[in-house]
Order: sequence, then structure tokens, then C-alpha cells
Amino acid sequence: MISLDKIHKSYGSVEVLKGVSIGIRAGERVVLCGPSGSGKSTLIRCINGLEPRSSGKILVNGHELHPNCENIADLKGEVGMVFQQFNLFPHLTVLQNLMLAPRIVRGTAHEAVQAQAMRLLERVKIADKAHAYPGQLSGGQQQRVAIARALCMQPKVMLFDEPTSALDPEMVKEVLDVMIDLAREGMTMIVVTHEMGFARTVADRVIFMDGGVILEEDAPASFFTRPKHPRTKEFLRQVY
Ligand code: ATP
Ligand code: MG
Repeated sequence: MISLDKIHKSYGSVEVLKGVSIGIRAGERVVLCGPSGSGKSTLIRCINGLEPRSSGKILVNGHELHPNCENIADLKGEVGMVFQQFNLFPHLTVLQNLMLAPRIVRGTAHEAVQAQAMRLLERVKIADKAHAYPGQLSGGQQQRVAIARALCMQPKVMLFDEPTSALDPEMVKEVLDVMIDLAREGMTMIVVTHEMGFARTVADRVIFMDGGVILEEDAPASFFTRPKHPRTKEFLRQVY
């Protein structure tokens, strides 16, 4: 489903990804963790073409992503992205936020998009807010809308970059519950998170990055109980 081959990325003279290779199967749930500055967000942004990489090859669902993200339009629908800061359009209602991309990128008929958007809002339990503006919603509600908006493009893969980090503690669960449902339905997911409970119960594989490289990857059971690398042990001590 996703194949990353020796991805390098530099900002000026600073190399932040130093040859990252990962293969992810359809339906696999991968949690990506690691200390601040280790390159997690940069890697995620390279996968969906938000960030041009310096070298290396990225295949998403059989399509090679152009190094300068020139074929991003082809990929947009296949890779859904959810950010820490929700990134909803503040001047559009919830329903309009969901309908924008399918209408503009896909040109799907208004009625069909609206029906699908309402189904997704029901699925994330927020259909009653369809005509509210993002500023009128709580953080947890906004993040559920952001997930529904990404799903509205019927992606093959969902990327999450710390989706619960900006939320008050009591709202974390409602967002994780939506993500757990998605995982149960078989969605291919890459999730950057420090929610190690989520990693333990949902992930098929946990990948630990540090300093722009993958230091360790394993099934959660062994990752959490028998970390091998000293940096992984240190990280796990800090996040618990
Ligand atoms: P965090 O856990 O804090 O979100 P991260 O693992 O997501 O960290 P990245 O955001 O990928 O880390 O950043 C990796 C490195 O790249 C950092 O040293 C950061 O300062 C640098 N970096 C990220 N974006 C840019 C940019 N646009 N310009 C220059 N340097 C950048
Ligand atoms: Mg980050």
C-alpha cells in the first residue's frame, strides 16, 4: 500500500530524514513515535506530498509520488490527513468543510456529496453540528469533523499527526474512539501519537524514530515489554 525507500530530507544544510525505508500493507495500523524533532511530522508530510523530499522513492497504492509533489492532485484523494491543530476552514460550516474537496477536486454532484458528508458526520457522532462553524465547537468536536472531512474523499490511507495532542484530556477519548472504529473497519493508518494505550491496543506495528532514522520497529507487545535500543528504553521511560 505504501512503500518508502531511503527517504532523505534536508532543510538547507540540516538533514532531518536520513534514509527512512518503510513498507506498509493494506489494512495495517502503524504507530510512529519518537522524541520531538526526530522527523515524524516531516516523514508524514512527505508521504502525502505536502513536503518535497530530497531523495528516495515513495509509492502510494502503486503510484509513485513525484519528488517535487507535482502529481499531488492524483494522490490527494488516496491519502487523508488529520493534523494536531484540526486545520478546519473557519469561515465554512462543518458541512461545507466536508463538502469542499469532493466538490472541487472530484467534481462530484452536490447532492451525492452532501448525503455522504451527512453519513460521515453521523458516524463521528456530530451530525447535529452540521450547520455550526468550527469556532462554535469544542476541540474534540473539531477534530472529529476533521476526521470526517478526510474520510469524505474516500482515502485508501489515513495519516494522523498527533491528533489528540492539542485536546483537553476529557476530549481525547472521543477522538481516539473514532480512530479505533476506523481501525476496526480495516483502514490503513499511520498515526503519530504519544498515546501509548492506543498504540498497544490498535497498532499492528510500532515504529520508533530518532534523529531522522528508524531505530526500532516491532509489534506493540514486544515493543513495550522488550524494547531493544537504549534510546527506545529512554523514550518509553519518559512517556509513561
Ligand atoms: P515533534 O514531536 O515535536 O512534532 P517531529 O518528530 O514531528 O517533532 P519534525 O517536525 O519532523 O519533528 O522536525 C524534524 C526536524 O526538522 C526538527 O529539527 C525541525 O526543527 C526541523 N524542521 C521541520 N520543519 C522545518 C522547516 N520547515 N524548516 C526548517 N527546519 C524544519
Ligand atoms: Mg511533529
